[in-house]
Amino acid sequence: MTKPYKLVGREFQQENTHVKVGDAVFGNGSFPVIAGPCAVESEKQVLSIANSVKNAGAKVFRGGAFKPRTSPYAFQGLGKKGLIFLAKVREETGLPIATEVMDVETFDLVEEYADVIQIGSRNMQNFSLLKRAGNSDRPVILKRGMSATLSELLMSAEYILEQGNTNVILCERGIRTFVRHSRNTLDCSVVPAVKKESHLPVIVDPSHAAGIRDQVISLAYASAALGADGVMIEVHNHPEEARSDGAQSLYPDQFITAMEKMMAIHAIIGKKQ
Ligand code: PEP
Ligand code: MN
Repeated sequence: MTKPYKLVGREFQQENTHVKVGDAVFGNGSFPVIAGPCAVESEKQVLSIANSVKNAGAKVFRGGAFKPRTSPYAFQGLGKKGLIFLAKVREETGLPIATEVMDVETFDLVEEYADVIQIGSRNMQNFSLLKRAGNSDRPVILKRGMSATLSELLMSAEYILEQGNTNVILCERGIRTFVRHSRNTLDCSVVPAVKKESHLPVIVDPSHAAGIRDQVISLAYASAALGADGVMIEVHNHPEEARSDGAQSLYPDQFITAMEKMMAIHAIIGKKQ
């Protein structure tokens, strides 16, 4: 082994890891789409969005019940009530659920409801959380820290694999740069770089990279062209009333068009990567 990471590296395993979440497979050349609001706000809200994104072809529903917010005065999520609403979505639509876990204390609870557990950017190097995720039987979406190098991202994934959980999906969600025209900057080149270094699937979250609805659509197309193993996109039925990340949430109609074009782009070039 010549790299600092072992289990996540291509040297250790040449074949791509396939991570199954419901009907979706991440890492097998397909392009599953995870969609839903930033935060769970009500039962009606999640059911409405879930039905729209399912009809458009999304394979996994996302929604945060525990929200990491910059301000302690901002909406922090509905907590357990939000998880119960997500379970209702699964029951009614059949879509598996992706939701964020913020700390070790609430891990058992989130694990009970989630089909895939999201570890957010702000927690990418929360090592006790990573170890706990490594002891879970749920797949994990590990989001890249906003100023993390590829090597740091892979080392964080190593913590999860080292504990025995090999079902890890890496997620590029934009990094902090000097630009002011977008919330973050999508690091397109990390996708081929991950693929070279690691056998783990890598998806892109164009929503948090862009921060602005119109840019999200362009970055989603770019993600399909990059050969990513899927995308995660925020969609809201009333973005102007959203309690978090409304400005970057697509309207359901925009999501339908984006899905069609992403799939067309993936069909042309995505699979060969
Ligand atoms: C989210 O997915 O809503 C989120 C908070 O993402 P990130 O951790 O990438 O900021
Ligand atoms: Mn968000």
